[in-house]
Amino acid sequence: MAGNMKPVLGFDLGGTKMLCGLVENGRTVTARYKKKTKEIDKPEDLVDRMVSCVEGCLKEAGIRAKDVAALGVAAPGPVDLKTGTLLNPPNLGVQELPLAKLLSRKLGVPVVLENDVNAGLYGEFVAGAAQGFSHVVGLFPGTGLGGGMILNGELYYGVSGAAGEIGHMTVQPGGRLCGCGNRGCLEALASRGAMAREAAVLVAAGKSPTIAKLAGTDISKMKSSVFADAIDAGEEAVIELVNNAAWWLGLGMASCVNIFNPEAIVIGGGLVEKLGKSYVKVAEASMREHAMAAIVKKVKVIAAGLADDAAVIGAAAVAAKNLALNAASGSRE
Ligand SMILES: [Zn+2]
Repeated sequence: MAGNMKPVLGFDLGGTKMLCGLVENGRTVTARYKKKTKEIDKPEDLVDRMVSCVEGCLKEAGIRAKDVAALGVAAPGPVDLKTGTLLNPPNLGVQELPLAKLLSRKLGVPVVLENDVNAGLYGEFVAGAAQGFSHVVGLFPGTGLGGGMILNGELYYGVSGAAGEIGHMTVQPGGRLCGCGNRGCLEALASRGAMAREAAVLVAAGKSPTIAKLAGTDISKMKSSVFADAIDAGEEAVIELVNNAAWWLGLGMASCVNIFNPEAIVIGGGLVEKLGKSYVKVAEASMREHAMAAIVKKVKVIAAGLADDAAVIGAAAVAAKNLALNAASGSRE
């Protein structure tokens, strides 16, 4: 990336909030603007809302759209990366929306779309926990369990951009039902969503006063902080539940180690942020127990460090890279 390059906008489109950031020197967020991702009546409303979030960020930075090189958008998958189209992301109420084209038309800057997990991992790679490594696998347990790989210093996409569905690796044949329709996926055992379903059973059995107080049996209210509070209160049943999920995560990490021979595994998301070292430790121990000794020996396990900025920085970096590639090949735009 050229040192004198114009700043790039990075945008994280989430199910509940959207965040736009101005990224300078490829790695520093110098202005931010946040908005709620409200219920929308028609797809154009989402585009308009995103444009107004971008404009808020530009205003915050005291610049105009023509002063930025590009906009990178991190959006929940599945996305068609080639055409910049949102396919059918959960919670956004849109389908087959050519987001990059629509945003580019309104803002007058090139727009590149990336899936949010890849963007988050790439952000950690260029500016966060995974700096300095060339082979990194990322696992992000949340409602689901996102995954991504950086191999030879590049995001790995597979033939259609769908690579990295680590959460849907079968680890328990015939096991618990997963959101994807399969049984026994890693996501069905190790995600926060899976933990929440188990916690509801604990609450019903009277085994977690803390979760009962904070969330009742409402799975949608069982945020990462709710589990952290129950652990802080010393609730044995919750500690066991969380350790069990971390153990499963480590099992998935072990397979990634065996397949990709990475230098580092990055784990991130709200759960990792809120549960911290004890959670990472259990996952890492399980990884070391299950992976091949010679391969896992030097693998570092790192907690993601950039929080909300990761996807913003990563999306901006992917956009900047695409722009540079297009310029180098002399292609359109
Ligand atoms: Zn699945």
